[in-house]
Amino acid sequence: MIPSQFDYVAPESVEQALAAIAEAGDEGKVLAGGQSLLPILRLRMNSPETVIDLGRIADLREVSEEGDTLVVGAMATHHDVMRHPLVGEHAALLARALEEVADPQVRHRGTVGGALVHADPAGDVGTAVLALDAELVVAGPNGSRTVAAEDFFVDLFQTAVGEDELLTHIRIPKHTGWGAHYEKFIRVAQQWSIVAVAATVKVEDGAIADARVGLTNMGSTPLRAKGVERALVGQSPSADVVGQAAAAAAEGTEPPSDLNGAADYRKHLAGVLTRRAVLAAVEG
Ligand SMILES: Cc1cc2nc3c(=O)[nH]c(=O)nc-3n(C[C@H](O)[C@H](O)[C@H](O)COP(=O)(O)OP(=O)(O)OC[C@H]3O[C@@H](n4cnc5c(N)ncnc54)[C@H](O)[C@@H]3O)c2cc1C
Repeated sequence: MIPSQFDYVAPESVEQALAAIAEAGDEGKVLAGGQSLLPILRLRMNSPETVIDLGRIADLREVSEEGDTLVVGAMATHHDVMRHPLVGEHAALLARALEEVADPQVRHRGTVGGALVHADPAGDVGTAVLALDAELVVAGPNGSRTVAAEDFFVDLFQTAVGEDELLTHIRIPKHTGWGAHYEKFIRVAQQWSIVAVAATVKVEDGAIADARVGLTNMGSTPLRAKGVERALVGQSPSADVVGQAAAAAAEGTEPPSDLNGAADYRKHLAGVLTRRAVLAAVEG
């Protein structure tokens, strides 16, 4: 099917984009990489009168650093972010998660901001951003505001970004020197996560000095396994110790049951994948 007819605008700045969004009102839709939006338009699950393409806002494609913070533009593609040297050095977990998103074609078009606002609970990007304690910068008619990743994901496909707002940047505290791994469980290549675990750890003097663990598809939003994080800190990173801590990964989660697996199976997977992810992160 082809989408319903729509007007197309391509602003060249955030201010112009916000003005176009305000003018279009309820009938406008923002386009980033189009990897999730275009299928929706083609199925006519949404028929906006105006599509506002962010692709010409060059500033939003940049990755830079500000002191202890890495700043990723919302329109930077998965491919560009996962290959960026600053990301590899200061937020390796994000690079590891992006390497697992779909296939090269999707990674060359899809954007980090688009994936975060789309907020698919099986998406890989949000879990890494949550585990890295990032802040999301949201611009609207009254200026910009910053939302902690913990408050950004509201529910299934719902975020803190309002209809008249744009996600512009992702601000990630540098995790320089932390080991990182994203362990994704799928049945066929390039599938969405059945369950996945994002782990990043700081090892000092042979012990885990700090740890972050995020879970994908274990609820309606990305989740942090804070009990596991607490259990890991101060411990030696041996397989036994990590295995014991990882056993609690599914505590308090409410994963879905679907054709890929029942909720209990996902809870079992969360423990197994957390152990693997943390041990791999310890290795670097
Ligand atoms: C075949 C296929 C397989 C995939 N597999 C995976 C996978 O394994 N893991 C994974 O994580 N993802 C996967 N994806 C999704 C992929 O990551 C998409 O890139 C992502 O979901 C949407 O990003 P986008 O830039 O294409 O956004 P778009 O499709 O353009 O937009 C998505 C939504 O976000 C809104 N939006 C976009 N940018 C902004 C912004 N800056 N501010 C406000 N609103 C905005 C749009 O209005 C729209 O509602 C897959 C996609 C495809 C097509």
